[in-house]
Amino acid sequence: MTSGIRRVLSCHFTAKRLQRYLDADPSAPLDPAEIRRLEAHLAECARCAAAVEDFRSMRWAMLRLSRLVGPDPAAVARLHRSVDELLEEDRG
Ligand SMILES: [Zn+2]
Repeated sequence: MTSGIRRVLSCHFTAKRLQRYLDADPSAPLDPAEIRRLEAHLAECARCAAAVEDFRSMRWAMLRLSRLVGPDPAAVARLHRSVDELLEEDRG
């Protein structure tokens, strides 16, 4: 049970930082301890690892397509939902 709670909190921690982690946003950098914790969680959490893959493929698709047609609104909405679910898991 304790480990379950810790895992949910780590999902929350990861979801809150995922975009900054993947974008390497210079205006809001993660500190090395945060990056280590996030990467350790990604190594053991299939859901968050899948979210990273979604972000990466989404960003790549947006780079390729943005000049032509823009991102698929349904795919963007699905991505936001999956992150929202991760963020809301520690509220119950
Ligand atoms: Zn997780």
